[in-house]
Amino acid sequence: MESNQAISIARPSKQRLATQERLLEAIGESEWPYRAVFEHAAIGMAHIGLDDHLLLVNQCYCDIVGYSRDELLRMKFQDLTHLDYVEASLAHQQRLLAGEADTYAMEKRYIRRDGSTIWVRTTVSLIRTPSNEPAHFVAIVEDINERKQLERRTRESLEGLLRESAEAHASELTLREAKRRMDEFLGITSHELRTPLTTIKANVQFAKRRLKKIAVPAATAAEDIRDKLNEAQDLLGKAERQVEVLNRLVGDLVDISRIEADKMELRLRPEPCNLAAIVREVVAVQRRVTASRPIRLKIATRKVVLVIADADRLVQVLTNYLSNAQKYSPIGLPIEVSLRLQTGVAYVSVRDQGPGLPPAEQERIWERFYQAGCVKHHCGFSVGLGLGLYISSIIIEQHHGQVGVESAPGQGSTFWFSLPLFKEPSLNVP
Ligand code: ADP
Repeated sequence: MESNQAISIARPSKQRLATQERLLEAIGESEWPYRAVFEHAAIGMAHIGLDDHLLLVNQCYCDIVGYSRDELLRMKFQDLTHLDYVEASLAHQQRLLAGEADTYAMEKRYIRRDGSTIWVRTTVSLIRTPSNEPAHFVAIVEDINERKQLERRTRESLEGLLRESAEAHASELTLREAKRRMDEFLGITSHELRTPLTTIKANVQFAKRRLKKIAVPAATAAEDIRDKLNEAQDLLGKAERQVEVLNRLVGDLVDISRIEADKMELRLRPEPCNLAAIVREVVAVQRRVTASRPIRLKIATRKVVLVIADADRLVQVLTNYLSNAQKYSPIGLPIEVSLRLQTGVAYVSVRDQGPGLPPAEQERIWERFYQAGCVKHHCGFSVGLGLGLYISSIIIEQHHGQVGVESAPGQGSTFWFSLPLFKEPSLNVP
């Protein structure tokens, strides 16, 4: 670090030169071992007069501050001490002179000859004459620059770490708040949507039934009336299917808000049920809904497949797998649904000949709101919300089963779920 603290190196006064000489003489004559230690010490040492001038310095001291001995002997200690520390140093000296302390130590910065600063630790004592009069100060000066830099770097990285963790904490709080609002929004909107949907569905079904009744006598009526009635039936059928799609989406939203509110608990009503019958029923409904799509069914047993489950929820999972298979594979290509048993576990799978999924996507598609970017849905099916598989996985998890997908790009996908059997199948289906 550069400093612009100005230094003028004055000529030593006659009086000070005399003090220096006396000091050197005294040391030279009677204390030459001290002189040798002073000179060769690996630590900076200086004698400082009561007028703050340097009287004697060793080589290490010269190395620390970067001045020659001659230059130093014409300087005051204030010329070397960074301005920030001059006042404190003088105050310490006063305490020594007043006899309040024998020694003091402080960490401070020196300004070197090249203007850079260096951290030092100085320990200063006051030397007194035999008659106890203050004579001069002796300072021991240790270069602690490296330690200080290390301390600074450690402090900076600690501060950086603390700042990062505070930022992470803040963004986690923001995220949690956003999620809370989102869940609240989902909860409200899904319930608000469900009520009119139920009414629409009931009215469409009612209108269809009324039309059917008119359609019987209409068989004898003019052809164009019969055509119009058939057309109206058709339109109502389409409306009913779309209402069903909407119903499922809203159902997913209701589930999601319930999962969040109850911490992943869906309100299940488990009871013994026949999984084979559930699979057959779902396939039959899907065949009716999308007559153009061949759905093959393979059930590897004629026996009752007993599981303890909420049958409506299993219908929901299998319907989701099946509607995905239809949504993401080209129209007309067959889908295969199978049920097989293996040592106490029933496996239900839905195989399609769609685009397939790379391994990374196979993991992520089970996440809430996730939709694989590489997969396009085929027209005729509504776009989803990326919730179906997430909800399916939670439903199956709560039935103590597992979900999974086997797939490869271009090879189609097989989505499966497994459930523990209540007991080995034993009853014959009538
Ligand atoms: P949604 O279908 O409503 O987007 P899902 O949770 O049911 O939500 O599915 C999540 C994602 O998984 C889909 O968006 C799609 O990218 C992918 N996916 C699901 N089923 C299939 C499938 N049979 N073939 C290819 N990708 C699929």
